[in-house]
Amino acid sequence: MKPLILTIIACLVFSTAKSQTPVDELLPVRGFCIAAPNPDHIDEFIDFIDNGLAPRNVNTLILRVDYGYKFESHPELAEEDGLTRADVRKLVKACENNSIRLIPQINLLGHQSWAGKVNNLLRVYPEFDETPWVKMPEKYEWPNDDGLYCKSYCPLHPGVHKVVFDLVDEICDVFKADAFHAGMDEVFYIGDDSCSRCSGYDKAELFAGEVNAIRNHLANKDRELWIWGDRLIDGKTTGMGMWEASMNNTYRAVDMISKDVFICDWHYERPDQTAVYFAMKGLQVATCPWRNPETGVIQTDDMYKFRKNATREMKERYSGIVQTVWSSAEQFIKEYNEPGEEKNTAAACFNAVFERVNSSQQ
Ligand SMILES: [Zn+2]
Repeated sequence: MKPLILTIIACLVFSTAKSQTPVDELLPVRGFCIAAPNPDHIDEFIDFIDNGLAPRNVNTLILRVDYGYKFESHPELAEEDGLTRADVRKLVKACENNSIRLIPQINLLGHQSWAGKVNNLLRVYPEFDETPWVKMPEKYEWPNDDGLYCKSYCPLHPGVHKVVFDLVDEICDVFKADAFHAGMDEVFYIGDDSCSRCSGYDKAELFAGEVNAIRNHLANKDRELWIWGDRLIDGKTTGMGMWEASMNNTYRAVDMISKDVFICDWHYERPDQTAVYFAMKGLQVATCPWRNPETGVIQTDDMYKFRKNATREMKERYSGIVQTVWSSAEQFIKEYNEPGEEKNTAAACFNAVFERVNSSQQ
């Protein structure tokens, strides 16, 4: 009798839940990630929030700010044409009006240079550089003898967190954010043999140590940490290689980081099902497509399927989908408003993914 009663109750609960399912229950995170707009294009971007994101039920906007904000705590690190407090206030208001959770991003640990240019943190504080002997080339090319993709800061430098956490706190305050995205993707320079502080340490421990340090700092103010997932995937065993997974032994950090770190699991060409791996490790995960609409739709369907077939414990970790954009906000909006012949664009993927998201919810 008992199992039968339980089954009947379960069916009743399930059918009730299904008939009243709000969109948040079907796919809690419906995200969009893009570089913060240039101050001259704030109004255009707000129009896109109102008329592009909100009608598609996007409820999470990750804005990559990096040094493009007029930091008051560290004006020496701010880009000259960075967003002002007033600009950010407009963005915050637009997101509030549309019930969109706004999450600012500053790339921490890796991505401290791009092509031949050192970014502001290491330009102003070169002592934080993990590999100061690697000089920036006049003409950047990949591959190169130094294995230079992007510079990293040294996570064991005694002064780095004071500066970096000032930026994190200020950007979270001004964005009124309850979560912060620290990037942390594609970290190739870590635990370098020639770094007097890091040499000899386990790279997975170094990576996890930095994730947990940022996580703990944010937790003091009840804020959540979001990161990209690539450093936590074994690139060799999976065949995913050095970009979307790790070939430098950081992947074991997946078992060392706090379970409340949110993983943005990006795969742009194939619909790799690594969300299952993260969910099984106890981590919340969203799958992130970019510019391949076919792949993006499969990734969306997979996320629904994972949630539908999961145990109650696993289900909530399959959080949703985050469409990523790697051009400037201005370029994207142009592409979105005036689609050309090219089929594989971020705008086309965004349209296809959210068409799927919304049709699945009817
Ligand atoms: Zn170091």
